[in-house]
Amino acid sequence: MLFRFSLFVLTQLAGVLLGWWLAQAPGAFAGLAAGSLLWFGIDLWRGLKVARWLRTAEPGQELAMRGLWGEVADRARRALRAREQEATENGRRLQDFLAAIQASPNGVVLLDAQGRIEWCNQTAAAQLGIDAQRDMLQLIGNLVRDPGFAAYYAGKDDRRDIVVTGRDSTPSRPVRISVQLHPYGDGRQLLLTRDVTAVEQAEAMRRDFVANVSHEIRTPLTVLTGFVETMQNLQLPRDEQARYLELMAQQSHRMQTLVSDLLTLSRLEGSPPPAAGEWTPIAALLAHSEQEARALGAVLGKEQELRFAPAPEGELAGSQSELLSALSNLVGNAVRYTPAGGAIDVAWQPLPDGRAVFTVRDTGPGIAPEHIPRLTERFYRVDRSRSRETGGTGLGLAIVKHVAQRHGAELKIESKPGAGSRFSIVFPAARVRSAVKPVAAPAARPATGSPAGSVRAG
Ligand code: ADP
Repeated sequence: MLFRFSLFVLTQLAGVLLGWWLAQAPGAFAGLAAGSLLWFGIDLWRGLKVARWLRTAEPGQELAMRGLWGEVADRARRALRAREQEATENGRRLQDFLAAIQASPNGVVLLDAQGRIEWCNQTAAAQLGIDAQRDMLQLIGNLVRDPGFAAYYAGKDDRRDIVVTGRDSTPSRPVRISVQLHPYGDGRQLLLTRDVTAVEQAEAMRRDFVANVSHEIRTPLTVLTGFVETMQNLQLPRDEQARYLELMAQQSHRMQTLVSDLLTLSRLEGSPPPAAGEWTPIAALLAHSEQEARALGAVLGKEQELRFAPAPEGELAGSQSELLSALSNLVGNAVRYTPAGGAIDVAWQPLPDGRAVFTVRDTGPGIAPEHIPRLTERFYRVDRSRSRETGGTGLGLAIVKHVAQRHGAELKIESKPGAGSRFSIVFPAARVRSAVKPVAAPAARPATGSPAGSVRAG
């Protein structure tokens, strides 16, 4: 300020002195006016220079100027730089924010007050069939043609979501998308989408499971209740009483087996995979399942040829009880489904690559190809009455599949109606400690014919 005032006074003083020297008093007045004009002219020129610099200067282009205008330029430059930095920072933050929404597994669509798409992430675009570039500013109602969505959008009921069919849905692979509107700002709406296919499937499976368990338990319970009531109300002869009690014992045993299989399944589903440090001799596993199979054959009163190949020396890593349950289930099924006079072959074979395969072959009725992929589903049976007659729960192969998965193994089912079945579990090399030289040949064929249908369920 002092510099500016000094310059003003000096210009006028120079004008007065020059005027006085040239024309005494009148010259001094003219010199004062000329000095003032000159000062205002210079000041205006400096001001214009600053204004032009503010208008046209490139970022980083400096303006060397002192005094008031220099300070104005300096402050303006600093204010501009701060604003530029703020804008860059805001832009970066916006990009981070959009990238985070892009990375979200859920879909996000921003709609303006008219329902036009302002922005959407890739997930929403894929789920609703929107083109994130081309469909900008298009009305959402014109793009999502699901009638349920149209009614929901028209109703503007944002307290609940609706589930629509996903863009990539096919009859064999349905995709279900939950959509919910959330109002924000002045009339704008946030549309959130979420893939609920797995949730819906899990819910349907849970419902089916509860219905199946209830049905399985209700049948023996009804029979039991009937017998109890009969025995309470009628004076039965002793031999008939004994027969009724025998039937009642059978039904309670059936319920017991079912509950025990259910508990096994829930343990398998809810516990961490078995450690690889526990080794069980393969011979012990085979001996145990042979014992069980022979006992089952005796209970069922079937004359079958049950051949167990000599057990090799070697060990298998995993949970002994789970492995026993899986092997016994497979051998047990062969005993139960193979008619009297049939043959069952059980073998353990090390493979050249270090893996080992446990195989059960039977000459039973075999299984049609359409059933094979579903055999490991809980309660899935090909022949319901035959399964029940032989004490089946419909959970055996589900247990085998879980045990196999938990041990990194693979369950293979090969069968053909009338040509027997072959069930095998292929254990990974990491879980097998073999003392026998592996054979080069692949696992043997089923006992009769060659099965056509096969599935891997491991
Ligand atoms: P279940 O207790 O009914 O035997 P599983 O889960 O063990 O239940 O088996 C599912 C279905 O697979 C059985 O109901 C049966 O129809 C079929 N199955 C299993 N093993 C054999 C086999 N060795 N031969 C023919 N069918 C079989």
